[in-house]
Amino acid sequence: MHTPSVTRSLAETLIRPVAYPLLGLAVTGFVTCLVFHLLAFLGGPLPSAELDRVLTIGVLVVWFPALLIGAQITSGTKRPEILQAMLRGCPKWMVHGVVGLSIYVLLCGILSSNHEANAFAIRMSFYFFGSAISYSATRVEHIGPRRCPQGHESSDSASYCDVCGQKLPPAPL
Ligand SMILES: [Zn+2]
Repeated sequence: MHTPSVTRSLAETLIRPVAYPLLGLAVTGFVTCLVFHLLAFLGGPLPSAELDRVLTIGVLVVWFPALLIGAQITSGTKRPEILQAMLRGCPKWMVHGVVGLSIYVLLCGILSSNHEANAFAIRMSFYFFGSAISYSATRVEHIGPRRCPQGHESSDSASYCDVCGQKLPPAPL
């Protein structure tokens, strides 16, 4: 019998206090890179070398905690469902945004020879993905895999619990 733990682990307690500032940082990075991405295409002013470096280092600063948080909120999830589980707290447009931006970055790499604009597009997509993971972490009710009302672990694609047959609450995506 597997019942959900009532006591929250230290990692779970730390997720929200880390996720909110991380979300702020990631959104700031995303908006800044988006503006410079457009400016690079329009031939507008580009950031100083220092700001450019800060925007690159910022990706790492956002991504390390985002990956740790992502790993926490998906612990126990089967591999093919990891992305869905990681973004389960996000509204649909955000999930589509993560996928759409990745495709956009690829298209920029293939179709555009504007290296500055492309470099900002890559960082922009990483910041957006980081924003989505941190936003998801602020919204998920429980950490770990989806569970039926009896507390049995269930996959994100199932409609009924494999163990007790109870109807599962709707999947977030
Ligand atoms: Zn069950």
